[in-house]
Amino acid sequence: MSGRFTGKVAIITGASTGLGPVMARMMAEEGAKLVLAARRLELVEEVAAAIGENAVAVRADVTDEADVAAMVETAMGCWGQVDVMMNNAAVPGVDKYIWEQTVDNFLDTYKVDCMAAMLCSREVLNRSMLERRTGAIVNFSSSAGWDGMVRKSHYSAAKGALRILTKTIAREVGEYGIRCNCVVPGAIGTDLMLNYMKRIAEEQGKTVAEVEAGIVAPLPLRTFSTPEDVAGLALFLASDEARTITGQSVNVDAGLVMS
Ligand code: NAD
Repeated sequence: MSGRFTGKVAIITGASTGLGPVMARMMAEEGAKLVLAARRLELVEEVAAAIGENAVAVRADVTDEADVAAMVETAMGCWGQVDVMMNNAAVPGVDKYIWEQTVDNFLDTYKVDCMAAMLCSREVLNRSMLERRTGAIVNFSSSAGWDGMVRKSHYSAAKGALRILTKTIAREVGEYGIRCNCVVPGAIGTDLMLNYMKRIAEEQGKTVAEVEAGIVAPLPLRTFSTPEDVAGLALFLASDEARTITGQSVNVDAGLVMS
């Protein structure tokens, strides 16, 4: 298969559910060789098996330095280089008003939703990208990281910080020919979103359809993004088509945020 990622190697974290497997499939279709990382090896092995010989599954907790080093070592051992780092893994944390917030909830969320992007970026830069003077890092923020979200101070703060991390990395690595950008999704129609709507529906005594209608109503395009919509932007930013785009946070949110 040939395409924008022919001859390129990509690591995708959080590759077992939601957006991760969709990006994996789309990148493989465009010629990428892949390392797919997740905490649950059996799940990510299924994703890799569906893609075939160009995908390798690894178990990695992206907040663990040794796991991240081993993940990148797998990419180097199997494919000899890393061209694209997709920092997709994330957790929503536990919904809490600020007056209920706990240090554990706040920091556990921050570790996955911001610090892990630092760890994974650091590792691929040191092991491959800086020396080869090429590479693209894509981080995954959230519209909650622009304006905040009620009961999600932990998640909103981490996703906002991730955009500043993106700019800082971009400033530092630009002279090495390496780019770093951030995808900023609004609501994506994944299981994560469905479970969130089910919980809110239960709490507010509404149907899931009513909750969905409430979320979609203020959006100019009146729709959620599909995983393919979000993956399409991420692949563009990771590809050479985005050769002169770096340090950017790009919304894919049906028009929710207009800056
Ligand atoms: P998801 O929960 O399905 O996928 C995230 C994956 O990360 C999961 O498989 C999870 O197991 C994994 N993960 C969590 N902690 C990990 C860790 N410590 N180590 C390794 N993996 C870990 O979510 P998704 O809907 O596919 O979201 C993809 C990205 O888009 C995330 O960064 C998310 O924050 C962002 N996003 C999603 C939405 C949405 O509506 N789904 C909205 C805005 C932003």
